[in-house]
Amino acid sequence: MVSAASGAAPPLIALAGVRKRYGGGSSGQPETGVLHGIDLEIRAGEFVAIVGQSGSGKSTLMNLLGGLDRPSAGHYRFEGRDVASLSPDALARLRREAFGFVFQGYHLIASETARENVELPALYAGLPPPARAQRAQALLARLGLADRVGHRPHQLSGGQQQRVAIARALMNGGRVLLADEPTGALDSASGAEVMALLHQLADEGHTIVLITHDRGVAEQARRVVEIRDGRIVADGPGPGAASSASTSAGAAAAGGTQAAAAPMSPGSPRPARPWHADLGEAARAAWRGMGRNRLRTGLTLLGIVIGVASVIVMLAVGEGARQRVVQQMGTLGTTIMYLGGSAPAEGGPPGRITEEDLSAIAGLPDVAHVMPVIGDPIPVRRGRLERQVYVFAAEWFMPEVHQWPLAQGRFYTEAEDRALTPLVVLGHRAKAHFFPGDPDPRGRQLLIGDSPFEVIGTLAERGAESGAQSYDDMVFIPYRAGRARVYRVQTQPDYTVVAAASPQQVAAAEAAIRRLLLARHGRADFEISNAAARLQAEAQTRRSMTMMLGLIAAVSLVVGGIGVMNVMLMTVRERLREIGIRMAVGARQRDVQRQFLTEAVLLTLAGGVAGVLAGGITGAVLVASGVPVVFSVRAMAGAFACALAAGLVFGWAPARSASRLDPVVALAGD
Ligand code: ADP
Ligand code: MG
Repeated sequence: MVSAASGAAPPLIALAGVRKRYGGGSSGQPETGVLHGIDLEIRAGEFVAIVGQSGSGKSTLMNLLGGLDRPSAGHYRFEGRDVASLSPDALARLRREAFGFVFQGYHLIASETARENVELPALYAGLPPPARAQRAQALLARLGLADRVGHRPHQLSGGQQQRVAIARALMNGGRVLLADEPTGALDSASGAEVMALLHQLADEGHTIVLITHDRGVAEQARRVVEIRDGRIVADGPGPGAASSASTSAGAAAAGGTQAAAAPMSPGSPRPARPWHADLGEAARAAWRGMGRNRLRTGLTLLGIVIGVASVIVMLAVGEGARQRVVQQMGTLGTTIMYLGGSAPAEGGPPGRITEEDLSAIAGLPDVAHVMPVIGDPIPVRRGRLERQVYVFAAEWFMPEVHQWPLAQGRFYTEAEDRALTPLVVLGHRAKAHFFPGDPDPRGRQLLIGDSPFEVIGTLAERGAESGAQSYDDMVFIPYRAGRARVYRVQTQPDYTVVAAASPQQVAAAEAAIRRLLLARHGRADFEISNAAARLQAEAQTRRSMTMMLGLIAAVSLVVGGIGVMNVMLMTVRERLREIGIRMAVGARQRDVQRQFLTEAVLLTLAGGVAGVLAGGITGAVLVASGVPVVFSVRAMAGAFACALAAGLVFGWAPARSASRLDPVVALAGD
């Protein structure tokens, strides 16, 4: 307990030779001296009025007293501690724990309710939400605003707003109330009410510094300090001092009880709270911030939505195209080449690939299979049913070469091929054409050309997505039986399928075949079409395409992020005063930074969620219209993570600029 008379303890506030200059130096502004050597001591429990004409430096002095600003020269000690040496965060703590500001313009946050405005200092002091709400409610009730707690500032009269501001100043205890022209904007009745409130608080032991240009108001205080042109010209007891001497004596005692009643003992450190506790609060404030300008928020979001959606869709389309190629590789084989005779470039008749050529090729180390094929559309009949069908005559290992399993029955054997046995295996759709409604046509006969063939099996469906649908319409007969019974005049294969031993050996096999045939024929009268290499190259191209598309989409995400940054910078500029208010009630730089960063991240996260949805819908439409699309959870998570990262990256600079604002400049800003 500090008694004004004891003099033993250091004064609460002690200014010695304090000067304040604006501009000058490197700022480029002309230098203006505002305070020219202020010496002032204020003891705990005093009710001091600082009076002076407009422009005399009162507000500047108040900002210094409240730790919103620092003196250019001289010393300011608060409870014996030099304030000049305090870091910005320590200054914020001093404001939070020792001071309560009441401004002429109330300085309430417009988007928050009366209760939320009052709670603000306790939020930054780390008081848990229920205790915060309870205390704010009690303070508002005490100031006669019990039925206005949910109102926003614009729904309150000036007098009511000023009482909300006083409640806010008391929220963390309000040991020292700094009131800058608190009645300046009020009608006389409301002004008198506010003054009565200040008297009452002074009686309860709060130290009050009242700043006013109005001598009538000033003279209600117990001590009046007069300031003129930045210098103190008078300091003495006010006319009201004598009458309130008795209450003044009781003030110190009341101060003790008041301090006990305040939940925040001024010296208490900010309690350690989990980071997510503050995050929830920041998210709520961020949500409000976004709601303030819905159209702008929506348009900014659109950038992120389009970015995220296009990343997802582009990657899905690219992946779909790639998988289709891979499927084709499965169908046609990653090891397969086609060999046929052709006219050489230098002229002359097309070459013939002889049986001897084929056995020589089969002997090459990189070659696994050599499969001559004869195939042509010819009439196939069953009873009165006749169709033109591609009849594929190849050797017994055709299913292995084309990696094509059977659905039913079996394929013909090498022995049956050599014995010219008339057997036929049906493609999936050929079976449906010739034996509709017959689940098992094995043992039935088909007339191919004019020879009867017995059905012994059905091949599995290749399907539309493999790009080899027409294979399902074919029928398959043994090579030698086909040559002998169907394609009688044709002794040459139409083409030969050569399978390399492995996908890695395709190129070597092709080169070896070229060398061999050149040596045997003496001229390049043949053609090798390397489907495997073509497909492999195509798959590679598709992969690069996917990467490209993804990159382009990612660029749009970056553009979206820049949009977020732009909006956040505007938001900071628009909410200067709010930032100033938060700082005045004790927000640390990192509190402000976290709030705006949360806002940016929330913005991009919302965009990310909408983008994933939009991407999903677009993908569904594409699937419905037959475009192969393969969604990957990885791409979605990646796009989402990119949106989050964009929020952090592009929100960081605006949030930092907000947190580095000078509280006085921010408060004055609009
Ligand atoms: P009062 O509150 O007594 O009316 P102020 O403390 O607001 O006076 O201002 C005192 C003087 O300081 C004024 O002349 C004003 O122009 C000047 N001043 C205040 N703030 C600044 C600033 N940021 N830059 C330059 N001059 C300022
Ligand atoms: Mg002023």
